[in-house]
Amino acid sequence: MNKQNKHIAILGAGESGTGAAVLAKKQGFDVFVSDNSTIKAPYKSLLNQHKIQWEENQHTEAKILQADEIIISPGIPNTAPIVVKATEKNIPIISEIEFAGRFTDAKMICITGSNGKTTTTSLIYHILKTAGLDVGLAGNIGHSLALQVALEPHAYYVIELSSFQLDYMFDFKADVAVLLNITPDHLDRYNFDFQSYINSKFRIIRNQTKRDAFVFWEDDPIIQKELAKRTVKASVYPFALKKTNSSQAFTENKEIIFNTDHIQFTMAIRELTIKGVHNTYNSMAAGLAAAVLDLKKETIRQSLIDFKGVEHRLEYVATVRNVQFINDSKATNVNSCWYALKSFETPIVLILGGKDKGNDYTEIQSLVKNQVRALVFLGVDNAPLHRAFDKSGKQIVETQSMKDAVQQAYQLAQEGDTVLLSPCCASFDLFESYEDRGKQFKKYVREL
Ligand code: ADP
Repeated sequence: MNKQNKHIAILGAGESGTGAAVLAKKQGFDVFVSDNSTIKAPYKSLLNQHKIQWEENQHTEAKILQADEIIISPGIPNTAPIVVKATEKNIPIISEIEFAGRFTDAKMICITGSNGKTTTTSLIYHILKTAGLDVGLAGNIGHSLALQVALEPHAYYVIELSSFQLDYMFDFKADVAVLLNITPDHLDRYNFDFQSYINSKFRIIRNQTKRDAFVFWEDDPIIQKELAKRTVKASVYPFALKKTNSSQAFTENKEIIFNTDHIQFTMAIRELTIKGVHNTYNSMAAGLAAAVLDLKKETIRQSLIDFKGVEHRLEYVATVRNVQFINDSKATNVNSCWYALKSFETPIVLILGGKDKGNDYTEIQSLVKNQVRALVFLGVDNAPLHRAFDKSGKQIVETQSMKDAVQQAYQLAQEGDTVLLSPCCASFDLFESYEDRGKQFKKYVREL
């Protein structure tokens, strides 16, 4: 079949779908884009500019189901009726990353995990950029890989991969795969089956050979258990909090020690701009990924030190009458809130709540008990939070708007405290996105 005769249908016209469409069109395929909600204006104009056929607010089945291949956006669950029908018809369904990977020989540095993906991806990108490499930042972080491959190709890509992208990747290979951690998340998309989610994350090492590298967190019990069952073909670069027989990066006496075949150096943890033990892990992962690429240790060290962090991840906002406000709106699961609570030594007024994905709050109960002064619930349905925390003996306030949450938290805080927005939940009940939630938080803090 020549390319003009190969029909590609693309489901979803956001960043990844539109990017895939542009690349597919450029490669000479027959392309049809379908989105069952309204397509945002910039994406529409990109599609029009490339003369790509599209539809919105509907899925025309007859057209989609005649495709030879479907590219699916990560936001669309496999239970969506159109996906079910395509699967029944045995139409191959792939992700945008899988598709883009067919048209580039660039080196792929891929990052996944339940938490820390965006931070670590940005950090690796920062190191590679500082080293002067021709590098693109792509994937879940909000920049389409396919669009870059189509319009501004790079020699290296640093790609953040969610489990939803990994699920539809088959022949793609990561030259460097980074697996940060695995904790229960997005279980609503995996039939509440944790093992399916774990399997999805492990797809990051699919197709790797011994010439490729696998960087992972060795202390993670889930990763350990899973590795005991699997054969890994890639060269491994584990990192751990304490030195083990295999760790190639670890901490000792408040220092990070990198000890690989490629590179050996030491740096003080306090030199890192990004704080908290989770960011020590992220820095070890990023340093190892850079070491594999044979970058100079001076470049790696300096870039780790001067990386400023990413908005909405433990972001310092302001101090008002000696109460500091921290925006961790991206903490959309319980584990990331656990790390946030661990990152402060002051008493905390914790703002949490939102759209609950089947959370188990026991993980943070003892930290709440020991460190939290008061809880501010911010969500449409706060019943799960009440079930988890009503017996904690903490003062609890219920709110339904960010303005109210910020004001109440400020009232409850005492001098020297930290008000922490680290919600454990998705934001879609009251906000457009976690970014919207974080921005509103910052706005109302600055109005205090
Ligand atoms: P992701 O892209 O995987 O969602 P982010 O870098 O955006 O990860 O961080 C999401 C949340 O997780 C933030 O609240 C952040 O403070 C926290 N976090 C960052 N790195 C880690 C880590 N290695 N382990 C646990 N939590 C982390």
